[in-house]
Amino acid sequence: MTLLKAVRGTRDLLPPETELWDRVETTARRVFARYNFGEIRTPIFEDTSLFSRSVGEETDIVSKEMYTWEDRARAQSEKSQSLTLRPENTAGVVRAYIEHKLGESGLLQKLCYIGPQFRRERPQKGRYRQFWQIGAEVIGPPSAGSESPLRDAEVLEMLASFLDELGINGWTLVLNSVGSSTDRPKYIAALREALKDKAPQMCADCQRRAETNPLRVLDCKVPEDQPIIETLPKIADFLDDASKAHFAAVLAALDACGVRYEINPRLVRGLDYYTRTTFEFTHGGLGAQNALLGGGRYDGLSEMLGGPRAPGIGFAMGLDRLILTLQAAQAESAPTLADAFVAPLGESLNADALALARELRRKGLQIELGDGGFRLKKSFEIGNKLARNIVLLGEDEQRSGILTVKHFATGEQTKIPRAELAQALRNS
Ligand code: ATP
Ligand code: MG
Repeated sequence: MTLLKAVRGTRDLLPPETELWDRVETTARRVFARYNFGEIRTPIFEDTSLFSRSVGEETDIVSKEMYTWEDRARAQSEKSQSLTLRPENTAGVVRAYIEHKLGESGLLQKLCYIGPQFRRERPQKGRYRQFWQIGAEVIGPPSAGSESPLRDAEVLEMLASFLDELGINGWTLVLNSVGSSTDRPKYIAALREALKDKAPQMCADCQRRAETNPLRVLDCKVPEDQPIIETLPKIADFLDDASKAHFAAVLAALDACGVRYEINPRLVRGLDYYTRTTFEFTHGGLGAQNALLGGGRYDGLSEMLGGPRAPGIGFAMGLDRLILTLQAAQAESAPTLADAFVAPLGESLNADALALARELRRKGLQIELGDGGFRLKKSFEIGNKLARNIVLLGEDEQRSGILTVKHFATGEQTKIPRAELAQALRNS
């Protein structure tokens, strides 16, 4: 029989790695809560047109990466419908914002999410077909201040704090402004004009993009195309006064709170709905897939989906890539071991050993429990792999209430009264 494996581009997350996942998620919830974000959970699949209308028909995501299927009607009352596994979560959040009329409160909505996303990409380090994102959106009617550059700066400052608190060092914030719905068309026209001559020397994807969606040419990763891309017009030269002032205000607020950034005039990002501020946080340790997270402002998205005017700004962090970065940092430090391995000396002491382990765990210690069926040598071997100390529970220990403890690193063996055991192990 052929053995079944996880599908290409998907994977199982196993301990101890899952501890890191938990740490990242807990840190995100804690940091975001300080900024008063609430959690939203949207469905994992949506109507396909949600993504084609927001992310954009001509983007890589919609044109070739989505898992889409025709969901057949099961009853006369139902229609068959094209459905898609969500490739990102912003569209779902904005759909929910419109559907539940969240704008009617007149207040900014601050919504965060954690969940899997799906894109049929070529799997490689830091790139999977099922991957996880933690993201957040700040969205609301203009009267709630949703267009203010302060919102952009606040989100960026939160991300810097989150990465610092998580212990990720060496990140870079890369920023750009891609203009508004009034200045972007002028830029796209100029780009189209410049590409008339240049596109034929570029990769096949760029030749297509030059026709359908010229902005996407700036996203091209093909090395041979980079010198040509360098010569193309820059968006900064096309921003109108309002867009320029908005971007300058974002930068001034970041300067005021000491968040460092770089400006990259080529940063356009792979989704069509972005306006004005776009950004990425990159990390050198990740190799080719160097973006830890990406995001930007999407002032017209709600209207693109048939909703009210609701400017917003948001981001999505690649959880898989955050974990890779943390693992690289952790590989340099010692593995984490349990406080103690409790070894019953004989099967008749198994139940007592469980009671002792329970007592220690309830005091907050991390305990591995052995088995009285193991020979002493085997208990020591296993204990040494899993814990800093081994606690021996034989009949003498059981009777006297004084336990024998060996500290693996020093080889030191001591007798400790049961009442003092937890404290001694904690300090070991
Ligand atoms: P990239 O340029 O790396 O493909 P992207 O521009 O497609 O990223 P977004 O759609 O903005 O990325 O998603 C935000 C973040 O989600 C990325 O910065 C990255 O960390 C993560 N991400 C995107 N696609 C994948 C994937 N296939 N596997 C793992 N993480 C991903
Ligand atoms: Mg991508």
